[in-house]
Amino acid sequence: VAGYPGRFSDGRVATSRVVELRLGATGLEIVEPGDALVTTWPYESLRRVDEPYPGRPLRLASSSDPEGRLTIDDPLTFEAIHPLASQLADRTDPEPRRGGWHGTAIGALLAVALGLVLCRTVDLVAIVPSSWENALGRGVVAQVAEGREPCAGRSGVAALQSLTDRLAAASGAEVPFVVHVLPLDVQNAFAAPGGHIVLLEGLLDQATSPDEVAGVLAHEMAHVLERDPTRNLIRTLGLQAVLSAALGGAPDLVRAGAEFGGTVATLSYNRSAEEAADARAVELLAAAGLRTGGLAEFFDRLERESGSDFRPPWLSSHPPTPLRAQLARERRHDGAPALDDPSWIALRAICKH
Ligand SMILES: [Zn+2]
Repeated sequence: VAGYPGRFSDGRVATSRVVELRLGATGLEIVEPGDALVTTWPYESLRRVDEPYPGRPLRLASSSDPEGRLTIDDPLTFEAIHPLASQLADRTDPEPRRGGWHGTAIGALLAVALGLVLCRTVDLVAIVPSSWENALGRGVVAQVAEGREPCAGRSGVAALQSLTDRLAAASGAEVPFVVHVLPLDVQNAFAAPGGHIVLLEGLLDQATSPDEVAGVLAHEMAHVLERDPTRNLIRTLGLQAVLSAALGGAPDLVRAGAEFGGTVATLSYNRSAEEAADARAVELLAAAGLRTGGLAEFFDRLERESGSDFRPPWLSSHPPTPLRAQLARERRHDGAPALDDPSWIALRAICKH
């Protein structure tokens, strides 16, 4: 039986010796050259001594052998062992340790990611932790803001927050949505990874009702719920870049997000993602008890204005705007206006302070 190479220290002498590791029925067998069994570590007793880090050997210990340390230099050895000892990959510490959240289980993630890339069976987004998404999203927003402060008119912020909270509650998801309004005279909105949504002031200025804004907001929230922005970012940056940024922690992720922020803001999703987001938006509005007509009215208005020079990138492709308006109308539910008059006035003035 071919074993895997490793180095073992029994804790009594300083140096470690070369051993062969064999995958036994119940545990990892540590065998000396010449075939002498040193010890067997039950699979469930294995644990990591320190955080995994690329280029650094992996060190394992066993609760059955408090002094022993096993050093594994060859990633293939770990690949062989960790399916038998799932706790090695799954380090879900309830308390995030300093600097630990990003390095946690990187090796396992890379292994899983590689497998997924090879098989193409599972959505890569499924393995990106939400803490990474949040940092990426902050970078994207910072990039688009280009140093501008988000609009902060107090009653406008409160109105937007209550509308967001209402839609978020209707979604039933635990996503911490953060909606930023940026003072740009462009009729656009987009979602960034990690629950960040950006509305540009031009959208608030041009909208003819709060229901239009609520429709657009619900549409972007639907993208977030489907994790479309993260999926797009991974497609753009490559998973490798996201994972290596993650190794540097939040600041590197923010930088990575910023580097591609402009791209994220202008990327359009594919037709099925847009259709799904439109449908989900109407569901969210209806579940929140709001009238859903605003989304169709927004599309209608854009279609009327399409002779104008600006067309948001996420509307410039597919599906055609009239079709989106029609679909939104077919699903229409009645309900309350998205905001009362004072709140709508406050929201429109959110950047005028
Ligand atoms: Zn969209």
